[in-house]
Amino acid sequence: MPEHPITIAIDGYSSTGKSTMAKWLAAQVGYAYIDSGAMYRAVTLYCLDNNIIQGPDIDEALLAERLNEIEIRFVAGGDGRSHTWLNGRDVESEIRSMRVSDRVSEIAALGFVRRAMVAQQQAMGRGKGVVMDGRDIGTVVFPDAEMKVFVTADAEVRARRRYDELRAKGDTSVRFEDVLRNVTERDRIDSTRAESPLRQAEDAVVLDNSHMTIEQQNRWLIDLFRQRLEQAEASA
Ligand code: C5P
Repeated sequence: MPEHPITIAIDGYSSTGKSTMAKWLAAQVGYAYIDSGAMYRAVTLYCLDNNIIQGPDIDEALLAERLNEIEIRFVAGGDGRSHTWLNGRDVESEIRSMRVSDRVSEIAALGFVRRAMVAQQQAMGRGKGVVMDGRDIGTVVFPDAEMKVFVTADAEVRARRRYDELRAKGDTSVRFEDVLRNVTERDRIDSTRAESPLRQAEDAVVLDNSHMTIEQQNRWLIDLFRQRLEQAEASA
């Protein structure tokens, strides 16, 4: 790692490939990768499995009471990738299901949940040298991040990518229109919520990857990283 590691915040709309690019960049530059969305997904899974979410209702009082019993960790899996663990159990694949995707934005809109997650994320990034992706990383979690990217793409393109990913994982019951509805509904809830809504930080650079190849995107990212690192080293 260089002498002055920087903090990298990657925010943007649902299914824009933020985690793919964040993971790639982290591996390239030897930084840690942290998936903040996985933390909100893990809390949502806990709520679904513990009667905190019942039908359309969320028992906020019960969640507030149980929040400190929810332990989320990132553990390297046998496949060499980081897996999300919830209270001692690998939930990496379960948190990506539509069951969780359908409710996560409601849980992530709760102020007390956000405060608890943000505190953990800030602790994980204290030493810099991290790439974190999410919705409020450049605005709330690390407002002083040296490199901020805001990712967007056409909703249909994003839904198609997520749909293909779920099918490839063996979910044959998933329907394209349900994925598209989920992607646009999460964008709506994430952008309009009162607590830290999804918005572009003033100093973020926009990346619209609707028509970019992975190679073009990676080159764009590494170029921006080099620029930001030079700037940080010049001002250190
Ligand atoms: O990034 P991912 O799509 O896995 O995130 C799932 C959901 O978690 C988002 O739709 C959003 O509601 C919430 N989230 C958030 N803030 C973050 C990361 C994710 O509100 N920093």
